[in-house]
Amino acid sequence: MSNAPFDIQLVDLKNQYKKIQKKVDKAVLDVLASSAFINGPEVKNFARDLETYLGVKHVVPCANGTDALQIALMALGLKPGDEVITPSFTYIATAEVIGLLRLTPVFVDVDPETFVIDPKEIEQNISSKTKAIIPVNLYGQCANLEEIQTIAKKHNLYVIEDNAQAIGADFTFSDGKTVKSGTVGHIGCTSFFPSKNLGCYGDGGAMFTNDDALADKLRMVSNHGQSKRYYHDIIGVNSRLDSVQAAILRIKLAHLDDYCKARNIAANHYNESFANINQITTPVIGTFSNHVFHQYTIKLKNVDREDLQAYLKDKGVPTNIYYPLPIHLQKGFLDMPHRKGDLSNTEMLMKCVLSFPIHTEMDQAQLNYITDSVKSYFK
Ligand SMILES: *Cc1c(COP(=O)(O)O)cnc(C)c1O
Repeated sequence: MSNAPFDIQLVDLKNQYKKIQKKVDKAVLDVLASSAFINGPEVKNFARDLETYLGVKHVVPCANGTDALQIALMALGLKPGDEVITPSFTYIATAEVIGLLRLTPVFVDVDPETFVIDPKEIEQNISSKTKAIIPVNLYGQCANLEEIQTIAKKHNLYVIEDNAQAIGADFTFSDGKTVKSGTVGHIGCTSFFPSKNLGCYGDGGAMFTNDDALADKLRMVSNHGQSKRYYHDIIGVNSRLDSVQAAILRIKLAHLDDYCKARNIAANHYNESFANINQITTPVIGTFSNHVFHQYTIKLKNVDREDLQAYLKDKGVPTNIYYPLPIHLQKGFLDMPHRKGDLSNTEMLMKCVLSFPIHTEMDQAQLNYITDSVKSYFK
């Protein structure tokens, strides 16, 4: 093993829990005592709290982020063969649900600086079958949602934001109006997977919308297509957020802004420390978004990435690659209907991105150790 003076982890959930342990433990015990395990008051309370935080009319909780995306597509009534435009440079869930519903994913390229979907590529890949766009607010910053909204309006398309990595981020329109990420599209989807910026202690997810009719549809689809008890108007799914997880999320939501700040402090330290290393390009933030650094991801130039990773691992500094293989090159997608545009940026990025530890519990000593280790590699 390494001789690192610290136990450095990509994500440190243990120490984060310790700081809120009393409140969390009590909230969990209260749910156990109430026995309201499914659809208990805490689920509604959390949904209301998150609506207030996001400034959105409806939050519909569900079982995980992948379900949120699937339920969103189902609620829009898309039919097999309909095309959905999405990046290939994302986590598999974004495109998986498109394939699962027998819709056709159309993969388009991302901006090589900000890593988010390129609106020009969206417009170039619209066909008569295109019904929806799923931009991904990747690594913690928003896609160019204003341009995407304009394109969607012009071509009468739905926008579903995959906001699993960017909850808490702000999107600013060109007129200066600022809103929360996930609330610009017709539907926003998020995940409460433990390592996400707002994570629970198991699985969880949610959808957001300002549209009353869509909110009803999302609730119906996620509850067995049920309009009233035991009357099922459409084929739905069973996807719920547990009361225990909702109780935990209520506590963590109150800390979300501080968590985002802590991530930004770590990111700033990395930015400053890497500024003079020619082989490293630090993250670029779009003019329309801030960044909540779900991941801190650099681009490497003329560096053997595996060698750098091995060197850092030996020093006790874990790194990771999000993602090593874009979706259009995944085995599971080669044989199923899909279309793709020119994905040269995606394929270039997949070879040169590298993500560093980033979480809410990093202290200055840890950060110094990590960046000194990186600097020593490039000496
Ligand atoms: C985590 C994640 C999801 C899926 O969330 P789960 O809760 O794990 O199902 C979807 N999209 C993106 C971009 C993610 O990072």
